Amino acid sequence: MDKYIKVRKIGEGSFGKAILVKAKEDGQQYVIKEINISKMSNKEREESRREVAVLANMKHPNIVLYRESFEENGCLYIVMDYCEGGDLFKKINAQKGILFSEDQILDWFVQICLALKHIHDRKILHRDIKSQNIFLTKDGTIQLGDFGIARVLNSTAELARTCIGTPYYLSPEICQNKPYNNKSDIWALGCVLYEMCTLKHAFEAGNMKNLVLKIISGPFPPVSMHYSYDLRNLLSQLFKRNPRNRPSVNSILEKNFIAKRVEKFLTPELIAEGFNHKIFHKFGPHASPAKRPVQEQTLTSVAPAQKITKPAAKYGVPLTIRKSCGVPKKPNEKKPLTKIRQVRIVGGWKFILEMQIISEVQ
Ligand code: ADP
Ligand code: MG
Repeated sequence: MDKYIKVRKIGEGSFGKAILVKAKEDGQQYVIKEINISKMSNKEREESRREVAVLANMKHPNIVLYRESFEENGCLYIVMDYCEGGDLFKKINAQKGILFSEDQILDWFVQICLALKHIHDRKILHRDIKSQNIFLTKDGTIQLGDFGIARVLNSTAELARTCIGTPYYLSPEICQNKPYNNKSDIWALGCVLYEMCTLKHAFEAGNMKNLVLKIISGPFPPVSMHYSYDLRNLLSQLFKRNPRNRPSVNSILEKNFIAKRVEKFLTPELIAEGFNHKIFHKFGPHASPAKRPVQEQTLTSVAPAQKITKPAAKYGVPLTIRKSCGVPKKPNEKKPLTKIRQVRIVGGWKFILEMQIISEVQ
Protein backbone atom coordinates (compact mmCIF):
# COMPACT_ATOMS: atom_id res chain seq x y z
CA MET A 1 0.00 0.00 0.00
CA ASP A 2 2.97 2.33 0.42
CA LYS A 3 2.93 3.07 -3.32
CA TYR A 4 -0.49 4.66 -2.93
CA ILE A 5 -2.07 7.44 -0.92
CA LYS A 6 -5.60 6.79 0.27
CA VAL A 7 -8.01 9.44 -0.97
CA ARG A 8 -11.26 8.05 0.44
CA LYS A 9 -13.29 4.92 0.85
CA ILE A 10 -15.80 4.82 -1.99
CA GLY A 11 -17.73 1.82 -0.93
CA GLU A 12 -18.07 -1.21 1.21
CA GLY A 13 -18.79 -3.93 -1.29
CA SER A 14 -20.03 -7.43 -0.71
CA PHE A 15 -16.57 -8.88 -0.57
CA GLY A 16 -14.50 -6.03 0.76
CA LYS A 17 -13.81 -2.35 0.64
CA ALA A 18 -13.31 -0.21 -2.43
CA ILE A 19 -10.80 2.57 -1.81
CA LEU A 20 -9.99 5.48 -4.09
CA VAL A 21 -6.23 6.04 -4.07
CA LYS A 22 -3.62 8.17 -5.75
CA ALA A 23 -0.41 6.56 -6.98
CA LYS A 24 2.69 8.26 -5.59
CA GLU A 25 4.56 7.46 -8.79
CA ASP A 26 2.33 9.15 -11.37
CA GLY A 27 -0.32 10.98 -9.36
CA GLN A 28 -3.03 8.93 -11.15
CA GLN A 29 -6.18 7.88 -9.33
CA TYR A 30 -6.97 4.19 -8.99
CA VAL A 31 -9.47 2.05 -7.13
CA ILE A 32 -8.12 -0.59 -4.81
CA LYS A 33 -10.30 -3.50 -3.80
CA GLU A 34 -9.39 -4.88 -0.40
CA ILE A 35 -10.43 -8.49 0.17
CA ASN A 36 -9.82 -10.16 3.49
CA ILE A 37 -8.36 -13.56 2.72
CA SER A 38 -7.11 -14.33 6.22
CA LYS A 39 -10.21 -16.36 7.08
CA MET A 40 -10.13 -18.37 3.88
CA SER A 41 -8.85 -21.93 3.75
CA ASN A 42 -5.49 -22.49 2.05
CA LYS A 43 -7.28 -23.91 -0.97
CA GLU A 44 -9.55 -20.89 -1.29
CA ARG A 45 -6.64 -18.53 -0.87
CA GLU A 46 -4.73 -20.31 -3.63
CA GLU A 47 -7.79 -20.14 -5.82
CA SER A 48 -8.09 -16.41 -5.17
CA ARG A 49 -4.50 -15.91 -6.28
CA ARG A 50 -5.01 -17.94 -9.43
CA GLU A 51 -8.18 -16.03 -10.10
CA VAL A 52 -6.43 -12.69 -9.74
CA ALA A 53 -3.74 -13.91 -12.15
CA VAL A 54 -6.49 -14.50 -14.69
CA LEU A 55 -7.97 -11.06 -14.09
CA ALA A 56 -4.57 -9.51 -14.56
CA ASN A 57 -4.51 -10.86 -18.10
CA MET A 58 -7.86 -9.40 -19.07
CA LYS A 59 -7.32 -6.49 -21.37
CA HIS A 60 -10.25 -5.09 -23.25
CA PRO A 61 -11.51 -1.55 -23.89
CA ASN A 62 -14.80 -2.41 -22.17
CA ILE A 63 -13.34 -4.05 -19.10
CA VAL A 64 -12.03 -2.08 -16.14
CA LEU A 65 -8.28 -2.44 -16.34
CA TYR A 66 -6.62 -4.33 -13.51
CA ARG A 67 -3.24 -2.79 -12.77
CA GLU A 68 -1.68 -5.01 -10.16
CA SER A 69 -2.39 -6.99 -7.02
CA PHE A 70 -0.53 -7.62 -3.81
CA GLU A 71 -1.05 -9.09 -0.37
CA GLU A 72 -0.54 -7.34 2.93
CA ASN A 73 -1.69 -8.10 6.48
CA GLY A 74 -4.06 -10.89 5.48
CA CYS A 75 -5.68 -8.87 2.72
CA LEU A 76 -5.55 -9.21 -1.02
CA TYR A 77 -5.41 -5.85 -2.79
CA ILE A 78 -6.43 -5.48 -6.41
CA VAL A 79 -5.55 -2.21 -8.08
CA MET A 80 -7.68 -1.14 -11.01
CA ASP A 81 -8.48 1.95 -13.05
CA TYR A 82 -10.81 4.48 -11.54
CA CYS A 83 -13.89 5.10 -13.67
CA GLU A 84 -14.68 8.77 -13.24
CA GLY A 85 -18.08 8.62 -14.88
CA GLY A 86 -19.52 6.56 -12.02
CA ASP A 87 -21.64 3.48 -12.46
CA LEU A 88 -24.68 2.75 -14.60
CA PHE A 89 -26.91 2.42 -11.55
CA LYS A 90 -26.22 6.02 -10.58
CA LYS A 91 -26.68 7.12 -14.19
CA ILE A 92 -30.08 5.39 -14.32
CA ASN A 93 -31.19 7.01 -11.07
CA ALA A 94 -30.06 10.42 -12.23
CA GLN A 95 -32.60 10.20 -15.10
CA LYS A 96 -35.43 10.91 -12.65
CA GLY A 97 -37.84 8.88 -14.73
CA ILE A 98 -36.88 10.22 -18.16
CA LEU A 99 -36.28 7.24 -20.43
CA PHE A 100 -33.00 6.84 -22.32
CA SER A 101 -33.09 6.86 -26.11
CA GLU A 102 -32.88 3.46 -27.80
CA ASP A 103 -29.65 4.56 -29.44
CA GLN A 104 -28.07 5.26 -26.08
CA ILE A 105 -29.30 1.98 -24.61
CA LEU A 106 -27.99 -0.07 -27.53
CA ASP A 107 -24.63 1.71 -27.56
CA TRP A 108 -24.19 0.84 -23.90
CA PHE A 109 -25.61 -2.64 -24.29
CA VAL A 110 -23.29 -3.60 -27.15
CA GLN A 111 -20.27 -2.52 -25.10
CA ILE A 112 -21.43 -4.62 -22.16
CA CYS A 113 -21.85 -7.55 -24.57
CA LEU A 114 -18.35 -7.04 -25.97
CA ALA A 115 -16.91 -7.17 -22.47
CA LEU A 116 -18.94 -10.27 -21.67
CA LYS A 117 -17.93 -11.92 -24.92
CA HIS A 118 -14.28 -11.34 -24.05
CA ILE A 119 -14.82 -13.06 -20.72
CA HIS A 120 -17.07 -15.90 -21.91
CA ASP A 121 -14.83 -16.68 -24.89
CA ARG A 122 -12.12 -17.33 -22.31
CA LYS A 123 -14.52 -19.52 -20.34
CA ILE A 124 -14.70 -17.20 -17.43
CA LEU A 125 -18.00 -16.32 -15.83
CA HIS A 126 -18.65 -12.87 -14.46
CA ARG A 127 -21.11 -13.92 -11.74
CA ASP A 128 -21.93 -10.42 -10.59
CA ILE A 129 -23.31 -8.51 -13.54
CA LYS A 130 -25.39 -5.60 -12.28
CA SER A 131 -25.72 -1.92 -13.11
CA GLN A 132 -23.51 -1.12 -10.10
CA ASN A 133 -20.65 -3.09 -11.63
CA ILE A 134 -20.87 -1.38 -15.00
CA PHE A 135 -18.91 1.83 -15.14
CA LEU A 136 -18.54 4.82 -17.37
CA THR A 137 -15.17 6.36 -18.09
CA LYS A 138 -14.64 10.08 -18.45
CA ASP A 139 -15.27 9.84 -22.21
CA GLY A 140 -18.45 7.83 -21.75
CA THR A 141 -17.07 4.38 -22.61
CA ILE A 142 -18.70 1.49 -20.79
CA GLN A 143 -16.46 -0.73 -18.69
CA LEU A 144 -17.47 -3.89 -16.92
CA GLY A 145 -15.84 -4.37 -13.56
CA ASP A 146 -15.61 -6.79 -10.67
CA PHE A 147 -15.74 -9.98 -12.71
CA GLY A 148 -14.29 -13.20 -11.52
CA ILE A 149 -13.72 -12.04 -8.00
CA ALA A 150 -17.01 -13.53 -6.98
CA ARG A 151 -15.71 -16.93 -8.02
CA VAL A 152 -13.20 -17.00 -5.21
CA LEU A 153 -15.95 -16.97 -2.67
CA ASN A 154 -17.27 -20.18 -1.20
CA SER A 155 -20.96 -20.94 -1.31
CA THR A 156 -21.64 -19.67 2.21
CA ALA A 157 -20.09 -16.34 1.37
CA GLU A 158 -21.98 -16.31 -1.91
CA LEU A 159 -25.29 -16.86 -0.12
CA ALA A 160 -24.51 -14.02 2.24
CA ARG A 161 -23.54 -11.86 -0.69
CA THR A 162 -26.74 -12.58 -2.54
CA CYS A 163 -28.90 -11.83 0.46
CA ILE A 164 -27.03 -8.80 1.75
CA GLY A 165 -26.12 -7.50 -1.66
CA THR A 166 -28.29 -7.08 -4.70
CA PRO A 167 -30.62 -10.04 -5.26
CA TYR A 168 -32.46 -8.53 -8.25
CA TYR A 169 -30.19 -10.24 -10.74
CA LEU A 170 -30.60 -13.77 -9.41
CA SER A 171 -31.52 -16.12 -12.24
CA PRO A 172 -34.30 -18.71 -12.02
CA GLU A 173 -31.76 -21.56 -12.01
CA ILE A 174 -29.88 -20.08 -9.05
CA CYS A 175 -33.19 -19.63 -7.23
CA GLN A 176 -33.73 -23.34 -7.87
CA ASN A 177 -30.31 -24.32 -6.61
CA LYS A 178 -28.93 -25.27 -9.98
CA PRO A 179 -25.34 -24.45 -10.84
CA TYR A 180 -24.32 -21.06 -12.09
CA ASN A 181 -23.46 -21.11 -15.79
CA ASN A 182 -22.78 -18.69 -18.62
CA LYS A 183 -26.52 -18.26 -19.18
CA SER A 184 -26.91 -17.02 -15.60
CA ASP A 185 -24.65 -14.15 -16.67
CA ILE A 186 -26.99 -13.70 -19.66
CA TRP A 187 -30.01 -13.48 -17.35
CA ALA A 188 -28.25 -10.75 -15.37
CA LEU A 189 -27.41 -9.04 -18.66
CA GLY A 190 -31.16 -9.09 -19.40
CA CYS A 191 -31.83 -7.50 -16.01
CA VAL A 192 -29.38 -4.71 -16.86
CA LEU A 193 -30.93 -4.17 -20.30
CA TYR A 194 -34.39 -4.05 -18.71
CA GLU A 195 -33.15 -1.50 -16.18
CA MET A 196 -31.78 0.69 -18.96
CA CYS A 197 -35.16 0.55 -20.75
CA THR A 198 -37.44 1.13 -17.75
CA LEU A 199 -35.15 2.66 -15.09
CA LYS A 200 -36.55 -0.05 -12.81
CA HIS A 201 -35.66 -3.58 -11.80
CA ALA A 202 -37.47 -6.28 -13.73
CA PHE A 203 -38.22 -8.31 -10.63
CA GLU A 204 -38.97 -6.55 -7.40
CA ALA A 205 -40.73 -7.65 -4.26
CA GLY A 206 -41.07 -6.68 -0.65
CA ASN A 207 -39.20 -9.71 0.60
CA MET A 208 -36.81 -12.34 -0.64
CA LYS A 209 -39.41 -15.10 -0.78
CA ASN A 210 -41.67 -13.13 -3.10
CA LEU A 211 -38.71 -11.98 -5.16
CA VAL A 212 -37.59 -15.57 -5.71
CA LEU A 213 -41.18 -16.51 -6.65
CA LYS A 214 -41.34 -13.70 -9.17
CA ILE A 215 -38.00 -14.64 -10.68
CA ILE A 216 -39.02 -18.27 -11.03
CA SER A 217 -42.45 -17.72 -12.47
CA GLY A 218 -43.76 -14.19 -12.28
CA PRO A 219 -44.27 -11.68 -15.04
CA PHE A 220 -42.27 -8.53 -15.47
CA PRO A 221 -43.90 -5.24 -16.43
CA PRO A 222 -43.56 -4.71 -20.18
CA VAL A 223 -41.13 -2.11 -21.46
CA SER A 224 -42.39 0.94 -23.31
CA MET A 225 -43.73 0.35 -26.84
CA HIS A 226 -41.65 3.36 -27.71
CA TYR A 227 -38.73 0.90 -28.04
CA SER A 228 -38.31 -1.23 -31.15
CA TYR A 229 -39.64 -4.76 -31.56
CA ASP A 230 -36.02 -5.98 -31.89
CA LEU A 231 -35.12 -4.60 -28.49
CA ARG A 232 -38.27 -5.85 -26.75
CA ASN A 233 -37.93 -9.24 -28.37
CA LEU A 234 -34.30 -9.50 -27.29
CA LEU A 235 -35.35 -8.82 -23.71
CA SER A 236 -37.86 -11.65 -23.78
CA GLN A 237 -35.12 -13.98 -25.07
CA LEU A 238 -32.73 -12.97 -22.30
CA PHE A 239 -35.50 -13.62 -19.76
CA LYS A 240 -36.21 -17.20 -20.85
CA ARG A 241 -36.67 -19.21 -17.68
CA ASN A 242 -34.80 -22.16 -19.11
CA PRO A 243 -31.14 -21.15 -19.46
CA ARG A 244 -30.81 -23.29 -22.59
CA ASN A 245 -33.29 -21.05 -24.36
CA ARG A 246 -31.35 -17.88 -23.63
CA PRO A 247 -28.96 -16.78 -26.37
CA SER A 248 -25.23 -16.87 -25.78
CA VAL A 249 -23.41 -13.56 -25.85
CA ASN A 250 -22.01 -14.49 -29.26
CA SER A 251 -25.44 -15.01 -30.73
CA ILE A 252 -26.64 -11.72 -29.23
CA LEU A 253 -23.74 -10.00 -30.95
CA GLU A 254 -24.66 -11.67 -34.25
CA LYS A 255 -28.11 -10.09 -34.27
CA ASN A 256 -28.16 -7.48 -37.00
CA PHE A 257 -29.37 -4.57 -34.92
CA ILE A 258 -26.58 -5.24 -32.40
CA ALA A 259 -23.84 -6.35 -34.82
CA LYS A 260 -24.00 -3.12 -36.77
CA ARG A 261 -22.89 -1.19 -33.68
CA VAL A 262 -19.85 -3.33 -32.90
CA GLU A 263 -17.44 -1.47 -35.13
CA LYS A 264 -18.22 1.79 -33.36
CA PHE A 265 -16.52 0.42 -30.28
CA LEU A 266 -13.83 -2.02 -31.34
CA THR A 267 -10.72 -1.51 -33.40
CA PRO A 268 -10.53 -3.61 -36.58
CA GLU A 269 -7.81 -5.65 -34.86
CA LEU A 270 -10.09 -6.53 -31.95
CA ILE A 271 -12.96 -7.32 -34.30
CA ALA A 272 -10.68 -9.64 -36.25
CA GLU A 273 -9.47 -11.27 -33.06
CA GLY A 274 -12.84 -11.81 -31.48
CA PHE A 275 -15.19 -12.31 -34.40
CA ASN A 276 -13.25 -14.21 -37.00
CA HIS A 277 -13.45 -17.66 -35.53
CA LYS A 278 -15.98 -20.41 -35.79
CA ILE A 279 -15.37 -22.28 -32.61
CA PHE A 280 -18.51 -22.12 -30.64
CA HIS A 281 -17.26 -21.83 -27.11
CA LYS A 282 -19.12 -24.11 -24.82
CA PHE A 283 -19.53 -24.22 -21.11
CA GLY A 284 -20.54 -26.69 -18.49
CA PRO A 285 -20.38 -30.46 -18.33
CA HIS A 286 -21.11 -30.86 -22.06
CA ALA A 287 -18.34 -28.58 -23.13
CA SER A 288 -16.03 -30.31 -25.51
CA PRO A 289 -12.57 -30.83 -24.05
CA ALA A 290 -9.21 -29.76 -25.35
CA LYS A 291 -10.38 -26.92 -27.59
CA ARG A 292 -8.01 -24.71 -25.66
CA PRO A 293 -4.59 -25.18 -24.15
CA VAL A 294 -4.75 -27.16 -20.94
CA GLN A 295 -3.11 -24.43 -18.93
CA GLU A 296 -5.79 -21.95 -19.87
CA GLN A 297 -8.50 -24.39 -18.88
CA THR A 298 -7.06 -24.89 -15.44
CA LEU A 299 -6.80 -21.18 -14.87
CA THR A 300 -10.33 -20.27 -15.66
CA SER A 301 -13.50 -20.77 -13.79
CA VAL A 302 -15.59 -23.24 -15.78
CA ALA A 303 -14.26 -26.25 -13.96
CA PRO A 304 -16.73 -28.26 -11.97
CA ALA A 305 -19.86 -26.22 -11.82
CA GLN A 306 -20.01 -24.97 -8.31
CA LYS A 307 -23.26 -25.56 -6.51
CA ILE A 308 -24.16 -22.33 -4.97
CA THR A 309 -26.76 -21.01 -2.64
CA LYS A 310 -30.17 -22.41 -1.96
CA PRO A 311 -32.18 -19.24 -1.73
CA ALA A 312 -35.37 -20.92 -2.82
CA ALA A 313 -35.13 -23.62 -0.21
CA LYS A 314 -34.01 -21.14 2.40
CA TYR A 315 -37.04 -18.96 1.82
CA GLY A 316 -39.47 -21.85 1.68
CA VAL A 317 -40.27 -21.47 -1.99
CA PRO A 318 -41.52 -24.60 -3.73
CA LEU A 319 -38.99 -25.63 -6.32
CA THR A 320 -41.40 -27.24 -8.72
CA ILE A 321 -43.03 -24.13 -10.17
CA ARG A 322 -42.11 -23.98 -13.83
CA LYS A 323 -44.81 -21.76 -15.25
CA SER A 324 -43.48 -19.79 -18.16
CA CYS A 325 -44.32 -16.18 -18.69
CA GLY A 326 -43.54 -13.24 -20.88
CA VAL A 327 -43.47 -13.93 -24.60
CA PRO A 328 -45.31 -17.14 -25.51
CA LYS A 329 -43.20 -20.17 -26.38
CA LYS A 330 -42.93 -21.14 -30.01
CA PRO A 331 -44.51 -24.56 -30.56
CA ASN A 332 -41.32 -26.11 -31.86
CA GLU A 333 -38.14 -24.92 -30.27
CA LYS A 334 -35.97 -27.90 -31.19
CA LYS A 335 -32.51 -26.97 -32.24
CA PRO A 336 -31.21 -27.99 -35.62
CA LEU A 337 -28.15 -30.21 -35.61
CA THR A 338 -26.69 -28.26 -38.44
CA LYS A 339 -26.92 -24.57 -38.44
CA ILE A 340 -25.78 -21.75 -40.60
CA ARG A 341 -24.09 -19.11 -38.58
CA GLN A 342 -23.47 -15.61 -39.69
CA VAL A 343 -20.11 -14.44 -38.51
CA ARG A 344 -18.98 -10.87 -38.66
CA ILE A 345 -15.55 -10.43 -40.09
CA VAL A 346 -13.68 -7.32 -41.01
CA GLY A 347 -15.01 -5.97 -44.25
CA GLY A 348 -18.20 -7.94 -44.50
CA TRP A 349 -20.32 -10.90 -43.54
CA LYS A 350 -19.31 -14.45 -43.84
CA PHE A 351 -21.60 -17.40 -43.58
CA ILE A 352 -20.25 -20.47 -41.96
CA LEU A 353 -21.91 -23.82 -42.09
CA GLU A 354 -21.39 -25.43 -38.79
CA MET A 355 -21.55 -29.19 -38.84
CA GLN A 356 -21.47 -29.33 -35.14
CA ILE A 357 -24.19 -30.01 -32.66
CA ILE A 358 -24.49 -26.78 -30.82
CA SER A 359 -25.13 -27.66 -27.26
CA GLU A 360 -25.99 -24.79 -25.07
CA VAL A 361 -25.25 -24.84 -21.41
CA GLN A 362 -26.15 -26.81 -18.40
P1 ADP B 1 -20.24 -4.03 -4.85
O1 ADP B 1 -19.77 -5.33 -4.31
O2 ADP B 1 -21.57 -3.60 -4.33
O3 ADP B 1 -20.14 -4.02 -6.34
P2 ADP B 1 -17.82 -2.48 -4.81
O4 ADP B 1 -16.85 -2.63 -3.71
O5 ADP B 1 -17.53 -3.11 -6.11
O6 ADP B 1 -19.25 -2.92 -4.29
O7 ADP B 1 -18.04 -0.95 -5.10
C1 ADP B 1 -18.35 -0.03 -4.12
C2 ADP B 1 -18.57 1.33 -4.77
O8 ADP B 1 -17.38 1.72 -5.44
C3 ADP B 1 -19.66 1.35 -5.81
O9 ADP B 1 -20.41 2.55 -5.66
C4 ADP B 1 -18.95 1.38 -7.12
O10 ADP B 1 -19.68 2.13 -8.07
C5 ADP B 1 -17.63 2.04 -6.79
N1 ADP B 1 -16.54 1.50 -7.62
C6 ADP B 1 -16.06 0.24 -7.60
N2 ADP B 1 -15.06 0.06 -8.49
C7 ADP B 1 -14.93 1.26 -9.12
C8 ADP B 1 -14.07 1.76 -10.16
N3 ADP B 1 -13.15 0.97 -10.75
N4 ADP B 1 -14.21 3.04 -10.55
C9 ADP B 1 -15.12 3.84 -9.98
N5 ADP B 1 -15.96 3.46 -9.00
C10 ADP B 1 -15.87 2.18 -8.56
MG1 MG C 1 -18.72 -3.79 -7.55
